[in-house]
Amino acid sequence: EIKIQMKNISKVFETEDMETHALKDVNLTIYKGDYVSISGPSGCGKSTLLSLLGLLDMPTSGEYMIEGMDVANLSLDEAAKIRNSKIGFVFQSFNLIDQISVFDNVALPLRYKKDKLSNAEIEQRVNKCLEMVSMTHRAQHKPNQLSGGQQQRIAIARALVAEPAILFVDEATGNLDSSTGDQIMDVLEQLNQNGTTICMVTHESRYADRATTQFRLLDGEILTLPNPPAAKEEPG
Ligand code: ADP
Ligand code: ADP
Repeated sequence: EIKIQMKNISKVFETEDMETHALKDVNLTIYKGDYVSISGPSGCGKSTLLSLLGLLDMPTSGEYMIEGMDVANLSLDEAAKIRNSKIGFVFQSFNLIDQISVFDNVALPLRYKKDKLSNAEIEQRVNKCLEMVSMTHRAQHKPNQLSGGQQQRIAIARALVAEPAILFVDEATGNLDSSTGDQIMDVLEQLNQNGTTICMVTHESRYADRATTQFRLLDGEILTLPNPPAAKEEPG
């Protein structure tokens, strides 16, 4: 089952007398249950690709489908609607609101939904997502009372609460020390093993290598790396 498909996607930025071909004929298919990494050197087009995938920007040309829906030529309003219902996003900066509780942070995407859920359903969904990231015991804390790794877990729960088709993760470990970063990657792998489709952008090859489908961006062009043998097998 195909979740995400880009065909011949190009993005050209025009500034004064300059044209930058940030993405060149990118082809990318992500299937349900995939664990995808996109890596590459600075300036290769990772942020541009992620903002197209996340419907924050539109391509110059090419086709983009999310769950079979054509999303290559949307107005900003339409894009926002589809983003809210189909796409979860986790950033390097956790982007949590310190004035409200962890519970309310995770509930936010549900409270913004057009089809209102009952309070009971919101509570059930928020608690389920907090459980998925092992943070149930911090539901009534404020985000600034938590460590960076805990805040990133909350951000992951918030990204999942609206049950998106896919979770995009942008350098999720960039603000974390390496052992906390490893724990966040473990959380993502666990979510993937339980069925969440994940596409992460990372410049850290040790994380990129753990994905089951690996893409490398080089100067706006995408390469698929051969599947590493037994990528998911734990030692022992
Ligand atoms: P990465 O995230 O891999 O560092 P980017 O996607 O940010 O790469 O950038 C890819 C290329 O597109 C770079 O040459 C960058 O300068 C250019 N670029 C990105 N955004 C813009 C923009 N808004 N206007 C002009 N050029 C841009
Ligand atoms: P950086 O790439 O500078 O490290 P982040 O990874 O935190 O920063 O964020 C990537 C970009 O996506 C930011 O410019 C952020 O403002 C933008 N963004 C804002 N709102 C959303 C949203 N709802 N969904 C996806 N991206 C968003």
